[in-house]
Amino acid sequence: MPIKEFIDLRSDTVTRPTAAMRAAMSTAIVGDDVYGDDPTINHLEALAAKRLGTEASLFVCSGTQSNLLALLSHCERGDEYIVGQEAHTYKYEGGGGAVLGSIQPQPLDFEPDGSLNLEKVEQTIKQDDVHFARTRLLCLENTQAGKVLPLNYLATASALAKQKGLSIHLDGARAFNAAVKLKVPITEISQHFDSISICLSKGLGAPVGSVLCGTSALIQKARRWRKVLGGGMRQAGILAAAGIIALENQVERLAEDHHNAKLLGQGLAGIEEFLIDPQSIQTNMVFTQLVNIEPVPLAEYLRENGILITPSPTLRFVTHQDITTDDVQMVIEVIEQYFA
Ligand SMILES: *Cc1c(COP(=O)(O)O)cnc(C)c1O
Repeated sequence: MPIKEFIDLRSDTVTRPTAAMRAAMSTAIVGDDVYGDDPTINHLEALAAKRLGTEASLFVCSGTQSNLLALLSHCERGDEYIVGQEAHTYKYEGGGGAVLGSIQPQPLDFEPDGSLNLEKVEQTIKQDDVHFARTRLLCLENTQAGKVLPLNYLATASALAKQKGLSIHLDGARAFNAAVKLKVPITEISQHFDSISICLSKGLGAPVGSVLCGTSALIQKARRWRKVLGGGMRQAGILAAAGIIALENQVERLAEDHHNAKLLGQGLAGIEEFLIDPQSIQTNMVFTQLVNIEPVPLAEYLRENGILITPSPTLRFVTHQDITTDDVQMVIEVIEQYFA
C-alpha cells in the first residue's frame, strides 16, 4: 500500500476492488472461458443479461473493446455509424472501428444535454446510393460527461432508428449512474437499445472489465470478434468474480457519489475563480471553468496536499467509492486556502 493515500478525483476508473471483491476473487471457481468452461464468467454473463433484460452478454477486458465489438458486430466493411463528436466511441477509442472494421464514423455535435439532435441524425442518414457509405448504426452515450439522457428521448431515438432500419447501440459505460439518478431499473434504459456496453471497472469498482449486452445473435458475433482481437481470456473468472459483486452490491451506492459530487460543486461554486453551476451536476462528475487561473500550478499544489486532478482549462472532478464526504470537505478547504 502507498504510505500516503491520495484523494484521487481524476476518474472513477481509479477505484480499487473492495474487500468483498478480493475475497471473491481469491476463491472464484474458474475454467477455460474460450471453451465456455469458466463457471464464474458464465454466471456474470447470465447475471448481466438478466439485469439488463437482454438475451445474452459477453464479459470483455475493457469498455473500449466492448464498444469496438458492438461496432464490428452491427456493421460491416463500408458501413457507417452516427456518433457524437465528443463521444468516447468516436474520439477516445483510437478510431478502432475504422482501423479494424473499415467502418466509417459520421460524427455530429452533442447537444448541451448530451443527446444527439434527432432531426440532424435523420438528415444525416444516407440514402441508398453507390456514392455513400451505408448508414447502419446509431450510437448514443449515457451518461455523457455526467449528464443523464431523458428516458423519453431514448424512446424517440430508438423509434427513429427502427423506422430507418438502423441498429442502436448505447455506450453505457456509466449507464448505472443514469439509472440510479433517475431512480429506475436499468432496463428502463437498456430496453431502447439493440446493444449496450457497461463498465464494471468505473463507479461499480471492479478492477477490470465491461459487459456487452444484446441479442444472442449479436453476442455470438461479438464473441467471435473478441477472439479475433485476442480478447479470449482463459481463467478470467478471477476477474468476473469481482464483476458479479459490482453488479450485485455496488449499484445503489452510486447515489453517494452523486451526493458527494453535488457537495463538491456547491463548495467550488463559492470560490470566485471557479465558474460552475451546481444545478448542472447530475451524477458523479463536476466540471468547472477556471477564471484567470493556470490549471497546472493548481494541480501541483493539490498534489502536494494529497489531492489528484487532471489539469485542464475545464477541470473535471470525478467522485467514486474511495472519496468520502470528509474528503470532499477537505478538497474544498484546500482549494480555498490556495486562493486565500
Ligand atoms: C471509460 C469509458 C469507456 C471505456 O473505457 P475503458 O477504459 O476502455 O474501459 C467507454 N465510454 C465511456 C463514455 C467511458 O467513459
